[in-house]
This record gives sequence, C-alpha cells and structure tokens, in this order.
Amino acid sequence: MTQKEYSRAYYLANIEVIREKGRVYRQTHVEEIEVRRRKYYQQNKKKMNAYCRMNYRKNSKRLSEGIRKARLKREFGITGEIYDEMVRSQNNVCAICQQPETAMLKGKIKRMAVDHCHKTNKVRGLLCQGCNQAIGYVKDDVRILAKMIDYLKNL
Ligand SMILES: [Zn+2]
Repeated sequence: MTQKEYSRAYYLANIEVIREKGRVYRQTHVEEIEVRRRKYYQQNKKKMNAYCRMNYRKNSKRLSEGIRKARLKREFGITGEIYDEMVRSQNNVCAICQQPETAMLKGKIKRMAVDHCHKTNKVRGLLCQGCNQAIGYVKDDVRILAKMIDYLKNL
C-alpha cells in the first residue's frame, strides 16, 4: 500500500471521528479561521474577484433563466415553453387591455404576469402589470368590477 492509499483507507475507516474533529475545530477556532480567511482573501483578492466575476458572467443568464423556469413550474405548474407559447398566442399583448407590457425591471421591459385563479389554480392568461394589479386589488371580484364600471359611467 502506498502512503496515499494508506491515508485514504485511514480516512475512510475513521471518517466520522475526523469529521467530528473538524466540526469541533471550526467551532472552537472561529476567530482564527476568520483571520486566516481574510488574510487569504487580501493576498488573493484579484484572483478571487476575477474568478467570481467570470463565473457570474458565464452563468448569470443560465442561472436567472433556471430560476424563472423553476418559479413558473412551482407557482403556476407551467413550463417556460408553455409560457412562451402563451405569449405567442396572445400576440405579446395583455389578455385584458390588449396592450404590450410597459413596466420596467432592471432597465428592461418586464415579462407579462401569469394570471391564475386563486381558487382553482387554473392559469387564465398573461397580463400586463397594471391589469394584473387591478384584478388583484379587487380580489378577482366581478361584483366590485361591475360596480366600478357603474360608478365611472355615472360620473
Ligand atoms: Zn393590461
């Protein structure tokens, strides 16, 4: 057995004890570890920052796309492809006001909101921010909406 193989076998045979020692060491040497971490960062700042920047640039689009798709799936049970298909079938305009979205987020036009029935969870359509907020404010209550129409007509 080579030294490396022996070390590996020893590590695997005593893995729990070694891990516990590490846990205890980290708990009892908090400040020392922090000082070393800071010192390492100061000495390797450029390299570490460049690596982080590069990694972020390389992955930001994929990461944010993944987050968006996971959210669509989790909150509305639809895939990114279904969302894109809904945008196409609505000709990229709001299902209520028939206007394209104008609300901005981080310097870009926002994607339309997925509107769903809170009782049945059924997706109804894509709405601009204004229409989505408007039906949210009246809690999807058609009686309130009808009264709003009457109110506006009578003025
Ligand atoms: Zn709208």
